[in-house]
Amino acid sequence: MSEIVDYDLYEVPPRWLFLRVETSDGLVGWGEPVVEGRAATVRTAVEELMDNYLLRKDPARIEDHWQTMYRGGFYRGGPVLMSAIAGIDQALWDIKGKRFDAPIHELLGGRARDRVRVYQWIGGDRPSEVGEAAAEKVENGFTGLKMNATSELRRVDNPAAVDNAVDRLREVRERVGPEIDIGVDFHGRVSKPMAKRLAEALEPYEPMFIEEPVLSEHNDALGDIARHTTIPIATGERLYSRWDFKEIFESGAVDVIQPDLSHAGGITEVKKIAAMAEAYDVALAPHCPLGPIALASCVHVDAISPNALIQEQSLNIHYNETSDVLDYLENRNVFRYDDGYIEIPTDPGLGIDIDQEYVERQAEKTVNWHNPVWRNDDGSVTEW
Ligand SMILES: [Mg+2]
Repeated sequence: MSEIVDYDLYEVPPRWLFLRVETSDGLVGWGEPVVEGRAATVRTAVEELMDNYLLRKDPARIEDHWQTMYRGGFYRGGPVLMSAIAGIDQALWDIKGKRFDAPIHELLGGRARDRVRVYQWIGGDRPSEVGEAAAEKVENGFTGLKMNATSELRRVDNPAAVDNAVDRLREVRERVGPEIDIGVDFHGRVSKPMAKRLAEALEPYEPMFIEEPVLSEHNDALGDIARHTTIPIATGERLYSRWDFKEIFESGAVDVIQPDLSHAGGITEVKKIAAMAEAYDVALAPHCPLGPIALASCVHVDAISPNALIQEQSLNIHYNETSDVLDYLENRNVFRYDDGYIEIPTDPGLGIDIDQEYVERQAEKTVNWHNPVWRNDDGSVTEW
């Protein structure tokens, strides 16, 4: 029997944590267990799971390990533990694929599509800036875009705040035309009354979806918001398991779910969440502003999920100032970006070749990324 014999964790720029797991017969699997801004905390959770449980175990029994890691600690769920499990789960799938000389999607049932559509983030505060950025991405072949709706917003804000959001989306829509999909991320910055008002105002410009119209702790408000708009509603980057998702499926308010393969229990759990979504006629669009291991994990699940709509990815995203998603790969053209799609990796396991020397060099740098804390003009804390 093969055994898990060793592991290493590497915190690397811009804000990622990579896990390398090694087996007694010399196989290596990679995972990306991270919550953005909490890498050190997740690192400790991974160390606890590895040292107290997984070392000396058979890497093949992924489902059993998942159940033990999730249920065996009595307390469960939440971003830290579910991200730790997610990264370990990805590494175990990578090892399994390498053992059977097959890409992970083959082990999960085989491809339900030939390639995966992706969207590209656009930044910029002024309408002219986002319009320009959008036109440039479309010129580069992307057919799906995503932008933030607003900066900070008061719980009840004035007409100018709504107008500003509308101006930005209108400018982008006018620049790129009706054949481009535009996701609009409310980022949990918006209160319920403003979400209703914004959804109504943005509706003429037909976004692909509005994302996190309210924070996940207010998901009970999504039904009310859905009654005010025909724009599809997306959410789920801050939900971590099937049990977190079941209420939003039952609410009927959500059209697109966005579980994160590095936050929601990994490949094993997101495959199950995607299957639940299919039964409710809900599409899958995994959240992924992360690194290449998380992205590869997403693409294998997209490949096998009939309800996959579009994939987030972090190429040139504003967070990646110091390192980008392809920098850590030996085989950088594995995610060839072509006409707004990326290819499904065909090499064994995750299908990516991590440049370990580069990872080790980058891990010597101090990373310690934390998200900004925003305040209203009266000094009170608001959502970022
Ligand atoms: Mg988001």
